[in-house]
Amino acid sequence: MDNDFKNRILRELPSVDELLREPALKEAASSHSTALVAEAARSVLEALRGAILAGGKAGPSREALPALVLDELEKAVSPGVVRVINATGTVLHTNIGRAILPQEAIEAVILAASGNINLEMDICTGERGQRDERVEGLVTRLTGAEAACVVNNNAAAVLITLNTLAEGREVVVSRGELIEIGGSFRLPEIIGKSGCVLKEVGTTNRTHERDYEDAITEDTALLFKAHTSNYKVVGFTASVELKKLASIGARRGLPVVEDLGSGSLMSLPVEGLASEPTVAQSLSSGASIVTFSGDKLLGGPQAGIIAGRRGLVDRIRKNPLKRALRADKLTLSALEATLRLYLNKDTATEKIPALRFLTRPLKEIEDTALKAAALLREALGPEYAVGVEDAESVAGGGSMPGHIIPSKAVSVVHGSKGPEKVFRMFLSCRPSILGRVKNERFLLDMRTVLDPTDVVPHGACAH
Ligand SMILES: *Cc1c(COP(=O)(O)O)cnc(C)c1O
Repeated sequence: MDNDFKNRILRELPSVDELLREPALKEAASSHSTALVAEAARSVLEALRGAILAGGKAGPSREALPALVLDELEKAVSPGVVRVINATGTVLHTNIGRAILPQEAIEAVILAASGNINLEMDICTGERGQRDERVEGLVTRLTGAEAACVVNNNAAAVLITLNTLAEGREVVVSRGELIEIGGSFRLPEIIGKSGCVLKEVGTTNRTHERDYEDAITEDTALLFKAHTSNYKVVGFTASVELKKLASIGARRGLPVVEDLGSGSLMSLPVEGLASEPTVAQSLSSGASIVTFSGDKLLGGPQAGIIAGRRGLVDRIRKNPLKRALRADKLTLSALEATLRLYLNKDTATEKIPALRFLTRPLKEIEDTALKAAALLREALGPEYAVGVEDAESVAGGGSMPGHIIPSKAVSVVHGSKGPEKVFRMFLSCRPSILGRVKNERFLLDMRTVLDPTDVVPHGACAH
């Protein structure tokens, strides 16, 4: 395209004001404000100018422009957050927001969001209170800890614990436990950012009591144990169990901190799963402080909980970082409501979705899969082969590493389209349906799907 031609078609583009006089855009302006429509028009015109200058085609006709502006406007005003149906087989999937809240927690969030609450106030006296108090009461009751406090997530819990108890001093960790959790939580880096010095002991596969003993000097502040929550060291291995580490700590006058990660509050009756260590077990094995997430096996909102000895928790609470890392009222309300459900162990598994999904009977999953398969066959037509097959779920969120939970999945196979295309088609639905591709097949794992119609494509599905 020569420059004269480019200039001519550039001149043919309407101005923003001209475009805004189009009836469709006038109507849009009455519901979305003239400023928003003008911004959309400007951005469409700019994109067209850019394309023309870059030597693209002559661009769309004048009549097509209002529709382009409306599309642009739609992008700006429609919510970016959409519901995603989790059919991945990973119960606690970090990328889609881990635990689904129990109904009671949802109601607590609505209450806290829609009005003021007694966040930091004693409702009997009107005097100022602590925002973590109610959660602390429940955590101590459920775990046997002397005290507890709450921050934004477990990474923050580890950071503030180390900074409070070991700043400028050494933290002893086994080389087999220098973990990295997805989303850039790397223990050596957190230890560094806490202002502490990492003292590695042992080897990747074997660490012994004497390794810890030999590493302790007058610079040592604490012994640290990390739950290797997303991998397993297998083969010729040795690690020092928490009880033994705690007795070394007691003998040498050093606190023992365990980063438990998943934070299970009760052992789950899940077949084929060695049970995750519970917070209560860690504390009774002698951990001085245990840190864990609110949105992993606990099944509540994103939060980091620090539980353990009163003197240590009090010091952590007084750290100025606590103010920077404190949890907000929505989180605390949801966490309190979730923890309260654990008071009744008979109904907790039923009422907390994460636990319900993990303990769901295979027969029930299969029933849902069969219903979903029938609905999908009808909805997708003869070009697709739909079946039900055995599948493997995992807890996810760094819980129960290496443990496979038998499940059932619906497979959806197209005659010619590959599985990646089918995956993207389901993802483009609203709600979005997230399955996975395994062995060149698109699978919808039904462990976390209670309603079979949830996996039937609706909305703007790009077939
Ligand atoms: C998940 C996990 C973390 C990070 O917790 P977040 O709540 O995601 O910040 C830290 N340590 C361990 C052992 C974990 O499993």
